[in-house]
Amino acid sequence: MRSRKSDVMVGAPGLYTYGAMRIGGIIRDAGFHPQITRNISQIHGDQVFLSLFSTLHLLDPAVKEVVKRIQQKGGECIIGGPVSSGPEMVLGELHPDLVVCGEGEEAVRCILDRTGDQTDHADCPNCAYIEDGRVIKTEQKRAQDLSFPLPLIPDDIAAQDIRGAQTYIETHRGCFGRCGFCQVPRVFGRRIRSRELDEILKEVKAFQKKGVRRLALIGGTGSLYRSKEGEVNSDAFISLLEGISSIMGPKNVSCPDIRADCLTDEVLEAVRAHTIGWIFFGIESGSEKMLGLMQKGIPIDKVRDAIEQCRQYGVKPAGSFITGYPGEEEEDFQATKDLMEELTLDDVFISIAEPIPSTPLAEVVCSQNPDMDLVSVPHTGEYAGLHLSEAEARAFDLMLHADMCRPVPRITQDVHYNAYLEEARKQGADIRNVTRLIRRYYSA
Ligand code: SF4
Repeated sequence: MRSRKSDVMVGAPGLYTYGAMRIGGIIRDAGFHPQITRNISQIHGDQVFLSLFSTLHLLDPAVKEVVKRIQQKGGECIIGGPVSSGPEMVLGELHPDLVVCGEGEEAVRCILDRTGDQTDHADCPNCAYIEDGRVIKTEQKRAQDLSFPLPLIPDDIAAQDIRGAQTYIETHRGCFGRCGFCQVPRVFGRRIRSRELDEILKEVKAFQKKGVRRLALIGGTGSLYRSKEGEVNSDAFISLLEGISSIMGPKNVSCPDIRADCLTDEVLEAVRAHTIGWIFFGIESGSEKMLGLMQKGIPIDKVRDAIEQCRQYGVKPAGSFITGYPGEEEEDFQATKDLMEELTLDDVFISIAEPIPSTPLAEVVCSQNPDMDLVSVPHTGEYAGLHLSEAEARAFDLMLHADMCRPVPRITQDVHYNAYLEEARKQGADIRNVTRLIRRYYSA
């Protein structure tokens, strides 16, 4: 029998994600006294909400061990976070009592409301569990009202470092885009739902009080705050950045990810005045063919214009590129290198295409002949002696190329060369593992 005084904990292995802190706030607001930790060895409790942000967590022996330990001591383990896009994989690999899929606030309130021996989750939305050997999924819902209690902010949040910030905060949910590799429109939908500004600012103050010095706005769609049908609401965005920077100071705020087709002069002026002054565009590829396969929906000329516009406003443009996407041929890869050279971005981020359950990319990967995977096919060209896969070789090559394509080219030293090689190999190995796992659960 579980009483309302249960020992409830939120476990966020490795990283206090915004989602984990948000769920902690929901639990506290329901009258419990939850603890939160990112230290995996300290995760325990009668009822543990485990927030997992990477598919690799499903293969991590330490995470498997935590789930087993909680259950052996009679506790209940509930898993949520980005991994919940593939509830079958979570249930099959980690054997938790329950998975909370997608937006978890209402599900968590419902789970906490169960009393006594009641373990029937059928009435709670957004849940998945195993019954009689079958995966059961309850009704999937999205919150219509994004008013939530303050997150549960851990005492050691100030020690966290996520690309220079101590935390990300959520301003809205959803994206009207359809990018085939991204789970945002699949989890949060294509309609933008925005939070109230005064609640966001209250939250910023709470984070600051706990020692957060720098924060970033979550997601790939920064300028879509309070937008409707893809139309940027510049006034709302300006008020948002003005409000946050008046608390944190402009040099301590970043709004890193903005779609290249969601820029206005006013947005750029606000980014320059109220943030650290950088924008990371998801450029992905220099090949229109690949952008079509990725369903990016942003032509390369639009990217060129956005970068030019950034420079006019004194905002530093950076970009991310994806290589190894199914269908990428040598000429597409070369087009990406050419575009990188043309744009001379201030920074770049390179990744190998990672299939995430629920995305079109995962479907393509599951239907594809495994022998055709760029992440598995051995590279036979310029870097053959390094024993890389084709996707690893392309990622490595792009990283080296990026050094030469900066506004002031950087001579690649041995230390950089080795770091890029290691990074490309790690990404390749991780994605091969993830791909095998996804195929095991979702191939027809
Ligand atoms: S624009 Fe960004 S958030 Fe939107 S679907 Fe594409 S990658 Fe995802």
